[in-house]
Amino acid sequence: MKTKKYDVVIVGAGPGGAIAAKTLDNSGLSVCLIDAKPRENIGEKVCGDAIEKEIFDFLHEKLNLDYPNKEVKNKVKGIKIFSPDKKTIFKIETKNKGYLLDRLKFGQHLLRQIKKATLMDNTLFVDFFDEGVVVERKINNKTEIEKIKCKIVVDASGFNAIVRTKTADNIFFEKNIDKKDISMCYREIREQDFEDQDYCHIYMTNEFSHGGYVWEFPEGKHLNVGLGVLYPSIPKMLYDKYLDFKGEEFKNSKIIKSGGGVVPTRRPIDSLVAMHNKIGVMFVGDAACQVNPIHGGGIARAMRAGYLAGTAIKKIYKQNKNLSKISLTNLWEYNSKYMKNQGKNIAVLDLFRIFLQSLSDDQINFGMGIGLIKEKDLINLSNTGEIKLNIVEKISRLAKGISDLNTTKKFIYTLEKIKKIKKLYEEYPNQEGFLDWKKSIEKIYIDLKKNML
Ligand SMILES: Cc1cc2nc3c(=O)[nH]c(=O)nc-3n(C[C@H](O)[C@H](O)[C@H](O)COP(=O)(O)OP(=O)(O)OC[C@H]3O[C@@H](n4cnc5c(N)ncnc54)[C@H](O)[C@@H]3O)c2cc1C
Repeated sequence: MKTKKYDVVIVGAGPGGAIAAKTLDNSGLSVCLIDAKPRENIGEKVCGDAIEKEIFDFLHEKLNLDYPNKEVKNKVKGIKIFSPDKKTIFKIETKNKGYLLDRLKFGQHLLRQIKKATLMDNTLFVDFFDEGVVVERKINNKTEIEKIKCKIVVDASGFNAIVRTKTADNIFFEKNIDKKDISMCYREIREQDFEDQDYCHIYMTNEFSHGGYVWEFPEGKHLNVGLGVLYPSIPKMLYDKYLDFKGEEFKNSKIIKSGGGVVPTRRPIDSLVAMHNKIGVMFVGDAACQVNPIHGGGIARAMRAGYLAGTAIKKIYKQNKNLSKISLTNLWEYNSKYMKNQGKNIAVLDLFRIFLQSLSDDQINFGMGIGLIKEKDLINLSNTGEIKLNIVEKISRLAKGISDLNTTKKFIYTLEKIKKIKKLYEEYPNQEGFLDWKKSIEKIYIDLKKNML
């Protein structure tokens, strides 16, 4: 059996893994980026394809990453969110533009910008061994098992998080995600006119997407249309029902692509780092549940996490010349940096997601219609991790919500819990305080779920 040796192995060359590799380009470290797919298919994924331009400004500044150009199918001004009865529309403009990406071309665009890491395509992570990872490579129709010695493994393998599931049992995170915390999706790209090319449309409707939403995103001549649902609903069955609702013309339009996918819609796993024997493990992107729990957007978040993980690795090696052994303490900085900012942001959105999922269509119509929930709440939650209501606004909303006291009480209760969780994430602990912190987080969830019944 062949054995190779690298400082870092990154599993998965999607947006998270690719940016981690790009970040390590100028580090002097040897990096191996593996992906199960053949090189020419890396990037392809069932997706809504929507992303804010902001992340490209960030990565251009930090890594000199080229902006996507021919990989962009359409540019939009923002999102329109429709209440189930369509009487209320929240229009959320993006600060810059929003892009609709061709995911395959975009994946290839990212790969082209990685200069130093070795890409091993057709290569599947199988398991750990005591000094690194075991992979299965397909070469000329033959399958070979190889070992790669390394000190750090980055799990950027997407929702299935294959490395996470193989990491030694530990107190830091759940290996498997609760089915209530995922959205199961079905998506098609259709040759279909869409009159509103400037906005992505999101339809809140339990009728077609129990616990999720239906989306229609304009991609020029094509429409990216799909829905996400809570387990155990079957997305394709609900999608067929949606097609009936849309009518014959829509139903008969040409399907360019179709398929299913899964998105984690919960707070990030509680620790983004762990040790597997002597090997340091870091989690990035969907493998770490770093997705916006309300709309399922994870491309930008995976890239930002890839950058932060790569930066943390560089720092570890810079501060410890001739590093012989990795420790959890070395890795923890990625945890602290991520959790105090992006992690906090995802956690507050997660609590709001649980609140939204507890509402019926009538309650959502009511909440959006009377202004109990406002579009600025969603913007503030995403940007600042908080919905701050001064006393006048609180009274005004309570007064508006008087005819549906149950929904109003749930809303106010959720805001209280959001405030608490925000503070806890801002005080993300070191290893010693971790278990107490985790217990406090879990208690917030237990209390919230009880009050959403
Ligand atoms: C239906 C749907 C719609 C979505 N819509 C949007 C949207 O509009 N906007 C948005 O921002 N996000 C959206 N997302 C989420 C987004 O696709 C993900 O958050 C993003 O792709 C995560 O990037 P990643 O790098 O973590 O993982 P991925 O993009 O999933 O990449 C993981 C990579 O790991 C490789 N891999 C997996 N297992 C192994 C293994 N054992 N060995 C080696 N390699 C392996 C895979 O081949 C893949 O290349 C959507 C997701 C779905 C399912």
